[in-house]
Amino acid sequence: MAEKKTFKFSFILDPAACMACAACELECRDGGIYIDDNANYSINADNCTRCGRCFRACPSGAITRVNNPAA
Ligand code: SF4
Ligand code: SF4
Repeated sequence: MAEKKTFKFSFILDPAACMACAACELECRDGGIYIDDNANYSINADNCTRCGRCFRACPSGAITRVNNPAA
């Protein structure tokens, strides 16, 4: 069985701070950014490789890095 890759941190996207500029979507190479059922940009943690490109590209600080609880 394939072992699921675990990360010490994740990126989260706050829709309240997002101005839907699409910079994160354009930067992401791994399918980590998607538009959810509420038409908000969101991060798919399963696809996200934690490269940080969206985090650096976001002009409004809507994407933040958070530590994951120790497994
Ligand atoms: S950290 Fe990288 S892989 Fe994850 S959503 Fe942002 S750009 Fe995509
Ligand atoms: S880069 Fe930031 S402001 Fe632009 S769509 Fe992504 S999260 Fe929203």
